[in-house]
Amino acid sequence: MNQQGHMASYGQPQSGYQGYQPFGYNSQHTAGVPTSQYGPYNGPVQGYQPTAVPQGPLRTASGAPPTSLPPSTAAQSTAYNQYGQGDVQNGPAMSDQLQRFPVSQPYMPGSHPMPYQQYAPLPNNTQQLPNQMAAMQISGSTSNAPPPPASQSYGPPTSHHQTTASFPLAGPASYTQYPTPLQNIPSSVPQSGNHPQHPFPGQPVPASTFTSPPTSTGLTGSTLLPPSGVPRPPVMHGPPLSGQPQAGLPPSQHPTGHYPPQLNHRPAGLQPGMPGVVSGPPAQGFQAHPSQPSQGLGPQQNGSFGQVRSPQPNFAAPYTGAPSYPSQPQPQQKRLDPDSIPSPIQVIEDDKSNRGTEPFSTGVRGQVPPLVTTDFVVKDQGNSSPRFIRCAAYNLPCTSDMAKQCQVPLTAVIKPLATLPADEAPPYIVDHGETGPIRCNRCKAYMCPYMQFIEGGRKFQCAFCSCVTEVLPHYFQHLDHTGKRMDCYDRPELSLGSYEFLATVDYCKNNKIPNPPAFIFMIDVSYNALKSGLVQLLCEELKTLLDYLPREGNAEESAIRVGFVTYNKVLHFYNVKSSLAQPQMMVVSDIADMFVPLLDGFLVNINESRAVINSLLEQIPEMFADTRETETVFGPVIQAGLEALKAAECAGKLFIFHSTLPLAEAPGKLKNRDDKKLINTDKEKVLFQPQTSFYNNLAKECVAQGCCVDLFLFPNQYVDVATLGLVTYQTGGSIYKYTFFQAQVDGDRFLNDLHRDVRKVIGFDAVMRVRTSTGIRATDFFGSFYMSNTTDVELAALDCDKAVTVEFKHDDKLSEDVGAQIQCALLYTSCSGQRRLRIHNLSLNCCTQLADLYRNCETDTLINYFVKLAYRGVLSNPTKTVRDNLINQSAQILACYRKNCASPSSAGQLILPECMKLLPVYLNCVLKSDVLQPGTEISTDDRAYIRQLVTSMDVAETNVFFYPRLLPVHKMDVDSDDFPVAIRCSEERLSKGGIYLLENGLNLFIWVGMNTQHDLIQSIFNVQSFGQIDSAMTALPMLDNPCSKKLRSMVDMIRAQRPRFMKLMIVKQDDKMELLFKHFLMEDKNVNGGASYVDFLCHMHKEIRQLLS
Ligand SMILES: [Zn+2]
Repeated sequence: MNQQGHMASYGQPQSGYQGYQPFGYNSQHTAGVPTSQYGPYNGPVQGYQPTAVPQGPLRTASGAPPTSLPPSTAAQSTAYNQYGQGDVQNGPAMSDQLQRFPVSQPYMPGSHPMPYQQYAPLPNNTQQLPNQMAAMQISGSTSNAPPPPASQSYGPPTSHHQTTASFPLAGPASYTQYPTPLQNIPSSVPQSGNHPQHPFPGQPVPASTFTSPPTSTGLTGSTLLPPSGVPRPPVMHGPPLSGQPQAGLPPSQHPTGHYPPQLNHRPAGLQPGMPGVVSGPPAQGFQAHPSQPSQGLGPQQNGSFGQVRSPQPNFAAPYTGAPSYPSQPQPQQKRLDPDSIPSPIQVIEDDKSNRGTEPFSTGVRGQVPPLVTTDFVVKDQGNSSPRFIRCAAYNLPCTSDMAKQCQVPLTAVIKPLATLPADEAPPYIVDHGETGPIRCNRCKAYMCPYMQFIEGGRKFQCAFCSCVTEVLPHYFQHLDHTGKRMDCYDRPELSLGSYEFLATVDYCKNNKIPNPPAFIFMIDVSYNALKSGLVQLLCEELKTLLDYLPREGNAEESAIRVGFVTYNKVLHFYNVKSSLAQPQMMVVSDIADMFVPLLDGFLVNINESRAVINSLLEQIPEMFADTRETETVFGPVIQAGLEALKAAECAGKLFIFHSTLPLAEAPGKLKNRDDKKLINTDKEKVLFQPQTSFYNNLAKECVAQGCCVDLFLFPNQYVDVATLGLVTYQTGGSIYKYTFFQAQVDGDRFLNDLHRDVRKVIGFDAVMRVRTSTGIRATDFFGSFYMSNTTDVELAALDCDKAVTVEFKHDDKLSEDVGAQIQCALLYTSCSGQRRLRIHNLSLNCCTQLADLYRNCETDTLINYFVKLAYRGVLSNPTKTVRDNLINQSAQILACYRKNCASPSSAGQLILPECMKLLPVYLNCVLKSDVLQPGTEISTDDRAYIRQLVTSMDVAETNVFFYPRLLPVHKMDVDSDDFPVAIRCSEERLSKGGIYLLENGLNLFIWVGMNTQHDLIQSIFNVQSFGQIDSAMTALPMLDNPCSKKLRSMVDMIRAQRPRFMKLMIVKQDDKMELLFKHFLMEDKNVNGGASYVDFLCHMHKEIRQLLS
């Protein structure tokens, strides 16, 4: 390599950038990365080509394997494909859009193959449309309407029978092992148990309460089981579910008669007769408070709902089948049976069986989608898929007073570029021609299904601001007799919830069509980076990885150009121009005022310069192999990348591979300011704040240029993630951290992450704007972005994994008739330099009754918001304040429900809305997370890292991150593709004879019980006994037996579901690593002082009672 002075090429004209023409390189996908992840970019492209749609219904027409869609779909697809490239013909054919669920009939499961009816013509004005939608909704959800069949699988299952779960946190008497005589008498016909759902005629009270101690029946699905309020005769205190299948769980999961009556269902993992139940202490933290005897009302006397447990002498030792269970009855200990409180697993499984079988069609306003843990297909019928937008409340309170009263945050989690499964078509691209997308004249909302055409189609009235806009001649279309445009179903923007517009030059920076983006790889070549094997590994990988840069649609090669920089205390730029025989290095040692020493030859087309690039990548590890330089700079690295993009007049992404705290003298130099003594003090917030404003300013500049920064960290000690990650955070970038990186051990994980990161769908230089109909507006945003004003979310880049959480507040009254409309518009530059707008629309219901609000909530989304609120809160408040605020708001939400919606009952009972019955358990997981309640073992950097990761997580990610998935491996069915049903995250659910897989999106463990059968150990680990298992292994041995294959395939599938590659850790029971594993058993008390679920539920109950009294 030639080393040249840094000025050698400076100022040379930038020949070749504008004249760049793609070459015929044929890119391929990398094995191991599902192509579907990149589906959208293989989808329709500019001037939409019918054959370019590989997914969804259209696939059928183009010869791909038929999908399970109705036969008509294929015909539609064919018809659709007949459209040419006209600017208006991008919509799917009509019949697909015409399919709607019947308005007046409950959907009958099993009525295949005709699950849908033809949808009646749309009403001819927007007033009617919401009316109709509202009517549809009402018919399905209010308790006044005849309930649909109990087993109906469509629609929010919780709406029909019970929308409340109440729990047996009655007075302390409930927990006493030997209740007083009065309490011993089970109330055979509890008062409210007779009619818990309609205590007041006309007022739907979606309450199913759980008294003390309850059976689990009240907690299981709300559709298959009778509402928990249904009176149960005392005999039900025996195995209550015998012969009564629980939704979602195979019957084999519920043997009867093998456990004492008070165990309503056996904890998964504990098999009758199976020896060796792990001796996890049951949640014993609960102490009854005899001094507060339930305000004089025993649960049996008031709202006990028939589920009072009869006296159980062995109450505290429920697992009689488990000889090793250590917790013998202790008369002084009073505990709440964990099986009697709401189980996340039960809720997840119920939703899977109730809602996972039918497609979720978005045509009905205000419909709560299936849970994120349910595998379901979405049909876009005018509202965005929940994969793009998910709300905490689908029924917004009409007034701000109501909103304040209930304290339920009105929030949506928006993931504009979300990856869709292979059987769902990516958003169509619409081209409205030279005049650009059709918009409202006043509020600039984009054309969407909610706009109402009037005056014979010559004008339309905006659904967001009511302003009337003239229809441009080229967009004119006649209306049919219902007032709907004749071409409604030919146009995605009139019939679908999500679609894209091609943007015109007016939407481009400086009114100039953007250049394709660039990727710049910036590699730390200081001592640590070389020693760990990072530089060698990375350079080797880049040789092939660069073949997989994102491509537009069917383009043969990526338009993205690449550049390379290495650095330690100084920066080295490389000229890799195709005409060179060898790469040239230019050193910039004056890092105080960063500039780019070369323009021509720095950013190149990979195929043109392949030989030179390969040569460079081979030489870099050699060049620095003997380096003694331990100091690095960081700020100038970002500055260099930014300047390079500026010079090239393009957006792009910097991939920075960095190993140390930047101590070298340079702008953005940092010092080690880690101080764990600050934890739990008022100054703790400092740990999350950047130590200098330098990076704030730099981030702002990066955003202005569309320069996204991805940061791969390889620290051996404190590197100040809170500061280093700031630019990444504000530019929509991703951060990865590999502590104590060793290429041999962690290489897989790093390379997998890098592959996915380089290849994923991404938009650059983006602005997101959320518009709303009159009455509410977006007031707050959470995520990885920058905001210079109160309305525009500015993103240097946004990729398919990033979500933005938005909070709405009232600025006026909402109307039940009209509902509330949300439109999210993301303007971005695609990977080929095309300027586009992705539009997502969602319409919500509005209500004047709080009960309607509580009936149509989504706790997972609520938690996503709470986490982000809290994790932002730690920047300015002590963590204790943040935790208290969360508890307080949640208690208010639940107290308001109790006060206004639930049937009157003893204050000793905890009554939760059905849709929010998991709020306490999930909230507790958030409260005791490492950011909010750290232990001594977690580093300051890890806390900052997790804080940053969580901020851009979508709902599915926060869900599993805070309540991990725990799968009993020993129960997997090797002949099925399904995973075993998960078990609750508690040590007492683990069997010594079992093997379990735990994952939370970042960590992946396999826990092995010490009594695991030798056969199973042999078939998975290829050793004969528990003692021989090597817990240092990071991959399971490849064995040719069904068990091994199934488990490895499970691991692969789980990894593919998550945005980050999870390193596998083997944990043997009683091993020292077990402590780490136990940290993820979220229902248990933890060593950092985090409460057990049972204890926390009692605490929440206390909080609620205080609010009510
Ligand atoms: Zn408008």
